[in-house]
Amino acid sequence: MLDGAIDMGKCRDSDKSVVESGDPHNRPGAPCASGESDTQGPANGPAAWFGKMIQNCYEYATDAKAKGKRIVGIMCEYTPRELIMAADAVPVCLCGGSAEMITPAEEHLPVNLCPLIKSTYGYHLRKANPFLEMADLIVAETTCDGKKKMYELMGRTRPTCILELPQKPADSDAMAHWVRELHKLKAKLEEHFGVALTDERIRQAIRIMNRERRLRRELAALMKLPSPPLTGRQLLDFKSIISGIDADLEQYAKAIEALRPQKADGRKDDSVRVLLTGVPIVHGAERVLDIIESSGGLVVCMDNCTGLKPILEDVDEGAEDPVRALAEKYFRLPCSVMTKNDRRLEVLRELAAEYRPQCVIDLIWQACITYDVESHLIKELAEKELGLPYLRIETDYSPSDSARIALRVEALFETVRQQTGELRCLRQ
Ligand code: SF4
Ligand code: SF4
Repeated sequence: MLDGAIDMGKCRDSDKSVVESGDPHNRPGAPCASGESDTQGPANGPAAWFGKMIQNCYEYATDAKAKGKRIVGIMCEYTPRELIMAADAVPVCLCGGSAEMITPAEEHLPVNLCPLIKSTYGYHLRKANPFLEMADLIVAETTCDGKKKMYELMGRTRPTCILELPQKPADSDAMAHWVRELHKLKAKLEEHFGVALTDERIRQAIRIMNRERRLRRELAALMKLPSPPLTGRQLLDFKSIISGIDADLEQYAKAIEALRPQKADGRKDDSVRVLLTGVPIVHGAERVLDIIESSGGLVVCMDNCTGLKPILEDVDEGAEDPVRALAEKYFRLPCSVMTKNDRRLEVLRELAAEYRPQCVIDLIWQACITYDVESHLIKELAEKELGLPYLRIETDYSPSDSARIALRVEALFETVRQQTGELRCLRQ
């Protein structure tokens, strides 16, 4: 599960090229990424561009395929896209965000499994994800048990390459294992696609991905402002299921340029600032984020794999051994599948200091055991160390519990407002 997912049915017929004026997440006074005060951005602005993200990616992948490039499916942020790009192939995120694909998946998979895994597999069974159908190879990352076993079933009919993650990052031999795994992935790509992944090709891909990470970080940093120029949902929409597309990078730069003047804006936003942590929110599965922001919240920071986690650090462009440099960057991803995962707490501490949230919301996809167990640690960190109210939300892709979630979120925000009021009184 990573940056984006597929909901082709939805995206083919709906061009979200502008932020709709009736959209509750279009905060009054928050200009769209066009930089204009009007909430309807221009047809060629960043909001319009990323509003057609799936369509753009579909055209890009189809065109690449027609030119003889290969498509490689990935489902985890541990996979270095750089290696795939260096093989002159296109890395595409295959994570499923559609509730409609859950029932078909349950023909093979247990009902009590993470919706992200089921949705992805439902697309596989129904052959409904055009990117998966185009894929020449799928990188099967050994992250959580559900995903590992799902890949086994998928691998019966699709070419897969297993990328085995270390489990204990603090062990002295963990990095050596990870470097070996990346070399195996490199060899597999070379053999499968008949290309040589030279150091120079890898370095070139590193430069592109570093630029993308820098731009996305800069955009996200705008949320540190007292009155951020975007909602969390708008920021989430500024990304693509395919990395390294030139046109995307240009639009990121354009959005930053357009939104930067807002820095001088002394307005103070009254929304409750939220740090959203936990599982990734892939394309099509944004329901909880939407509920938070239509209940008076503003997600100023998302630490998950569809937020800041994968873009916090870059790869050393000047390293003598670029594969090792990739290994070092990706090794530091603080995912709950690792034992122990202390770095997630370190990152949360840093992000809380920078983005100044007033509360922490921890999103867990149903049956995601690793994030669920870690929620105990996150609650402790939030309440005891950071002094922030904490709410754990466990749900799936079905909207059946939306009203209940909204009530709990509203109660959390009420607590935040009371605490803020009490603090103000104490200071007077
Ligand atoms: S949460 Fe973990 S398993 Fe999921 S994409 Fe991120 S790193 Fe991979
Ligand atoms: S959300 Fe949890 S269970 Fe689902 S794929 Fe990610 S790590 Fe696995």
